Amino acid sequence: MSRRPARITLGYICILIAAFAAGLLVAWTPLAERIDRDAYDWMFRIQPPEPWPSSSVVLAIDETTLTQTGGMRNVRRTVADAIERILPAKPAVVAIDLILPDTSVPADDAALEAVFERIPKLILASDLIPNQGRWEDPLPRFARWADAIGHVHAAPDPVSRAIPLEKAAGQDRRWALAFEAFRHAGHSSPVLESPADLEVNGTRIPAERETARAMYIRYREGIPELPIAKIRNDPASIEVVRNKAVFIGVTAQTAARDRLLTPLRDEMMSGVQIHAQAFETLASGRFLHPASNTAVILMCLFFTAAAGLTFAFLSGWAAYGVAASLLCMAHVVPHVAFSSNIILPYLAPVWSAWLSVAAAGSWQYFVVRRQLRQSESEKMRYQHAIQLVTHEMRSPLTAIQGSSELMGRYNLSEEKRRQIAQMINSESKRLARMIQTFLDVERLTDGSMKLRSETFASGDLIDTCVERARPLAERKNIQVLVETVAAASLKGDRELMEYAIYNLLTNAIKYSPAETVVTVSARRDSHTLHLSVRDQGIGMDEKELRNIFQKFYRTKKAEASGEAGTGIGLSIVEQIVNHHGGRIEVVSSPGKGSCFTMVLPCGIAPPPVPAPSLVSQ
Ligand code: ADP
Repeated sequence: MSRRPARITLGYICILIAAFAAGLLVAWTPLAERIDRDAYDWMFRIQPPEPWPSSSVVLAIDETTLTQTGGMRNVRRTVADAIERILPAKPAVVAIDLILPDTSVPADDAALEAVFERIPKLILASDLIPNQGRWEDPLPRFARWADAIGHVHAAPDPVSRAIPLEKAAGQDRRWALAFEAFRHAGHSSPVLESPADLEVNGTRIPAERETARAMYIRYREGIPELPIAKIRNDPASIEVVRNKAVFIGVTAQTAARDRLLTPLRDEMMSGVQIHAQAFETLASGRFLHPASNTAVILMCLFFTAAAGLTFAFLSGWAAYGVAASLLCMAHVVPHVAFSSNIILPYLAPVWSAWLSVAAAGSWQYFVVRRQLRQSESEKMRYQHAIQLVTHEMRSPLTAIQGSSELMGRYNLSEEKRRQIAQMINSESKRLARMIQTFLDVERLTDGSMKLRSETFASGDLIDTCVERARPLAERKNIQVLVETVAAASLKGDRELMEYAIYNLLTNAIKYSPAETVVTVSARRDSHTLHLSVRDQGIGMDEKELRNIFQKFYRTKKAEASGEAGTGIGLSIVEQIVNHHGGRIEVVSSPGKGSCFTMVLPCGIAPPPVPAPSLVSQ
């Protein structure tokens, strides 16, 4: 990963955290839950379980049975007759999905009770009466023969995916009909309860207490269904119930009120068939485990972190390729989990992966673009700087060239020759200094130079710069005044500091009309030196002031003044001052002038020499 400023890295992490949080928030909305449920049904259909030998049979009161036996009026007699017929095949348990709460035709009730007495394992059904908070139970004459009474409630969802194994009316709690059938088909052992599961007959069932012990049903095709009408016509057909759990109930569409949709197919399934399906899930131990919230959050975190790392360490097509694989993975993970019997929400991983990839991708795109723009402007800045230096070099070079030609061609007086030699010497020194300053500033900018650390007096520094700028000021008849100069020692690179002050001075002169005054002053606090250059020039407004330290920025007034400039000097001055641990402040108003103040850390001035005491002791 390329080295980035901490601010950019922090921003990147923040945007990823925001994507992660938004992904999670969206994944827990009601709409997302709906999408998750539809996705669950879809996965259920495309990944049907391998068929296994069924341990249950539905003894169905279907349309034909009702037609042949005189309808629901005679249902008790029909059921009694059917049980009578199947008992020789010794079913393991008989569960009846009819409530039987009141008396009917006395002969039918007696026949039913008589047959109940002979069933070795009988489970009867009860129903919670809406708004009354009590159970509607079978008549005591039936209930006394039952091994258990189970409830027949489905989960409050139009599609039956899970059933609540536990249901309570006040203190009166019932287990589901299928659960009781499973318990009594085995050793009728007591139920061991823990917050996360139930254990019965040595089988641990994932059913959390806080979800009313909801158990997902692993629906399957091929649970045998034996219509009661068929037993009556074909007595040999009862063999199918041998050692099986028999669920007796109404499947006829005209009579069954408890029909629901299931993830298995698009048509409704009757309650008794759903009980048999739940029993099959319990008997085969093929449970579906809903993933915990922690697992879901960790998975979303994984996708966010992976997207973040991808765009942090890779770029271009490599990054997009890995991001696309991540997205595919997010879509596939719920399927893979489902094939391992784990129910993962669909939207949470998919949504956090998409949001994180989009956030990380666009963030990196903009960062790369910004870096590109920065390097473009760096290139431009360098080109301008080269132009500036070559332009600045021309005047000393022309002076040196002209003077040396003069010396060669003409017979000059000794005095003139000495003057010219001195001028050549000082101009070549200026040239060398200019090249050095340029190189230093360049190296300072790209961070490859350490500042020289020398101690020098602020007064000397100011004097040198003022003297160098004076000829420029004289050309415009500008008076350069040096006000109070506090004694302070500065530490740093004198050469660069000279460059900075000289730049402020030349700006003050350049952007002031003739016959004005430029004032240099220095004031000292305990640890700082305030070094100001004040002029009575064109000044700047608020907006211009905000931009003057940007490279290549020049105000319109400066352009119009006809003074040459590149707009780079102040940016270098700011860098120099910053590198010396200081800051630069500007006060200016259009037409009235400007005051640039460098605030620099400084050493404690030497204590003044005490005046001789006049008081004699
Ligand atoms: P330049 O080479 O243009 O002088 P600088 O970076 O030194 O570049 O200054 C940037 C701009 O800031 C100048 O072009 C000018 O518009 C404005 N500026 C700087 N100093 C002064 C000043 N003393 N008075 C008015 N404007 C100034």
